[in-house]
Amino acid sequence: MMTGEQFVAEHVKPIGSSGIRRVFDLGAKLEDPINLSIGQPDFPVPEPVKAAMVEAIQANKNGYTVTRGIEPLRARISAELKREFEWEPDVFITSGLSGGLLLALMTCVNPGDEVLVGDPYFVSYTHLVKLTGGVPVRVDLYDDFALHPERFEAAITEKTKLIIVCSPSNPTGTVHRDKDVAALAEIARRHDLLIISDEIYCTLVYDGAAPSPARHAPERTLLLRGFAKSYAMTGLRMGYAAGPSGVTTEMAKLQQYTFVCAPHPVQYGALAAFDVDMSPQIDAYRAKRDLVCAELQGTFDFVRPSGGFYVFPKVPAKYSTATEFVEDAIARNVLIIPGEVFSARDSHFRISYAVPDEKIRQGCEILLSLAS
Ligand code: PMP
Repeated sequence: MMTGEQFVAEHVKPIGSSGIRRVFDLGAKLEDPINLSIGQPDFPVPEPVKAAMVEAIQANKNGYTVTRGIEPLRARISAELKREFEWEPDVFITSGLSGGLLLALMTCVNPGDEVLVGDPYFVSYTHLVKLTGGVPVRVDLYDDFALHPERFEAAITEKTKLIIVCSPSNPTGTVHRDKDVAALAEIARRHDLLIISDEIYCTLVYDGAAPSPARHAPERTLLLRGFAKSYAMTGLRMGYAAGPSGVTTEMAKLQQYTFVCAPHPVQYGALAAFDVDMSPQIDAYRAKRDLVCAELQGTFDFVRPSGGFYVFPKVPAKYSTATEFVEDAIARNVLIIPGEVFSARDSHFRISYAVPDEKIRQGCEILLSLAS
């Protein structure tokens, strides 16, 4: 039977289907799994955000917007960034953070350009860098998952163009220290590099704000943020890019020919989101962080996370790979993700604690029994 494979371009073939998908496929066969693999919040979209989107739809705000997004939302984001960083970058609205990331790489990467990525990393980075003709260079951040600016500097060559950082991190939940972010900013300045800062989890922080390179190297930071995790709007595809206008202008030009614009009614939802107090949800997630850490403490080796909703423990010594451990966990009805999905190493696994407390307890109990 002809499947059309002959039409698929070479640059797509090396991209394996996401390891996360493979876990989902295995999990789909289970009756009622304890699913600790999910990358989205378990709280609903806040009511004022829903209301603003419904109102926009009813008011027929469903057509294209200008490429850069509606003016009131851009103005609000600009005001927030000025307040937060005393920074007045060029701002435009993207289709999720992922939309902004793809446009950024399409804009900045020449064939063969090297892009430094801290390892472990969010899955899209390496794939998208390759897709846009670049070479991802993994900078090993084990065992403490701190930023280690000196390791980034050691990886720089004549071909290095960009550094992608993510704090709070997916998959480790680590929030980078301000002095490390400052040192990385200095390195970027010294070697004339642009820092792409993925701050999708920036509001989900439990021990203080996440330092941003936007404070230390505003002239060479491309800030990417979104509404997916902070407001549980993962399916609504809303984000923004802020940075030097030479870069963002070209990104917006490409948006015109690709995404066209971010979803129009959702832009009104995002505007409303800025006035919603999310501290109850953040407090609840801090408590979940505390719960999962208390459960794993003493048996698993892990770095206590300070943001996001993940923890990334080492697999018990009796397992030689995380994949084996994850297979055993899935056989016992618990879905988690092996480290090889996010890393050159396969020694750790990701737990998402964005689930009811009862599921955290049940899941941890099974993971602890596998470790003994
Ligand atoms: N960056 C990181 C680190 C993420 O974890 C995710 C979502 N899993 C994204 C970006 C994608 O965000 P969005 O849904 O806004 O495209």
